[in-house]
Amino acid sequence: MRRELVDVLVIGGGMAGSTAATVAARRGLSVALLRRGYGATALSSGVIDLPAMTGLPMTARQEAIRFFWQAAAAAGYPYLGEPDSEALLLSAAGMVKRTHLYPATTGAGLLGTWGEERIVFVGIRGLAEFNATFVARAAQQYAAELGLSCQADAAEIAFPGVRHRYNITGFELAQLLDDPEQVARFANAVASAIGSATRVALPPIMGVEQSAQAMTAVQSACGCPCFELVSGPPSLLGLRLQHTLQRVLPPQVRVLHGEAIGVVARDGCIQHVRAVDQDCEHVLAPRYVVLATGKFIGGGIGYAQRLHERLLDLPLWLEDQPLADSPLRELSHAAFAAMQPFMRVGLRVDAAWRPLRHDGHAAYENLYAAGAILQDQGQNECWGTLGAALIGGYMVGQNIGN
Ligand SMILES: Cc1cc2nc3c(=O)[nH]c(=O)nc-3n(C[C@H](O)[C@H](O)[C@H](O)COP(=O)(O)OP(=O)(O)OC[C@H]3O[C@@H](n4cnc5c(N)ncnc54)[C@H](O)[C@@H]3O)c2cc1C
Repeated sequence: MRRELVDVLVIGGGMAGSTAATVAARRGLSVALLRRGYGATALSSGVIDLPAMTGLPMTARQEAIRFFWQAAAAAGYPYLGEPDSEALLLSAAGMVKRTHLYPATTGAGLLGTWGEERIVFVGIRGLAEFNATFVARAAQQYAAELGLSCQADAAEIAFPGVRHRYNITGFELAQLLDDPEQVARFANAVASAIGSATRVALPPIMGVEQSAQAMTAVQSACGCPCFELVSGPPSLLGLRLQHTLQRVLPPQVRVLHGEAIGVVARDGCIQHVRAVDQDCEHVLAPRYVVLATGKFIGGGIGYAQRLHERLLDLPLWLEDQPLADSPLRELSHAAFAAMQPFMRVGLRVDAAWRPLRHDGHAAYENLYAAGAILQDQGQNECWGTLGAALIGGYMVGQNIGN
């Protein structure tokens, strides 16, 4: 079998892996990105929470955010937000999501920025996941709590061309709105339902790939700012973020759709990574490997008699301690909504982002890790967010091989 040489092999294609691959390729390294499918990034809300990450240099955090802003805008899906102040966005379920960076399509929905105006929440007949009347009422209440004197109303439209009255999903509607003709019909339907609105709220359905264009068309038909609400999983905004990260990858990054199934190491260095795709097995010979395989949803950490890192059986940590072979029962609380200790289990890395063995030394000289596979150390050092995966992926991409 032919060995494929590459400077950097990134395993995992979510926020952490895609960012690391893009940044390393921009530095002139040859990069292969191996991903077996979607992970948490695609399922997430698509809005980026930025933990404080007090252990990291502030400049690195700022550079990572600047990188993301520029890359997402260049890929046609710009993000807005203030890294150091929380944004409050209304969700399609009528709750408030606190976050930092959010897609521009949701920007006009920022709670606290509304003036004395009339906001109309537009429901779609048959889209049961969004109740415009309920969310308008919730918005009115939150606005009043913030001392805003706007008025929130609801309207309902039939989605042009969709005949059935039940069980329409936001994903189906979003796919239809990737067609500019369908967008024009939808924009007219919205514009004719909103009366004297000065701002329009829509469920998150504004296209999968062409959302910026769809939003512009609806805004110009309505003659006022329009915004999408954010939603829980599986969320269209998360899927769009995943697709944006894929579009951001420089063309010289070789993307392999497959799974890493094993490694060969010698003298403390990873020499080969074995991977399979649908047709064949690959043997990759990278100088450096980035492990960005996520946690439970991505698949980086699994459970078989014990929690374990699935590719290399790297040591896991919890609360600054090596994770003992505790039964899962001891790592979880029965209460559904409780903070689960097992969610904080993960790898620890040294200052160069290399996973540590339990004796405190790097497990392999040429192995780096970023994203949700790392151990959570509480709110400020929380790795389980898109922001931490972005910053970690950026740092690894910048520092690898230095
Ligand atoms: C429902 C939900 C909602 C969330 N909401 C928010 C939110 O509002 N704000 C926020 O900031 N964060 C949120 N998060 C957290 C955030 O999504 C994750 O922390 C982040 O996406 C992790 O990114 P990652 O790149 O580390 O992992 P992932 O996105 O999980 O990517 C892991 C990748 O590794 C690949 N992979 C795994 N094993 C292998 C293998 N052996 N070979 C090849 N590929 C492999 C997977 O296919 C995938 O491509 C949410 C998460 C979930 C699940």
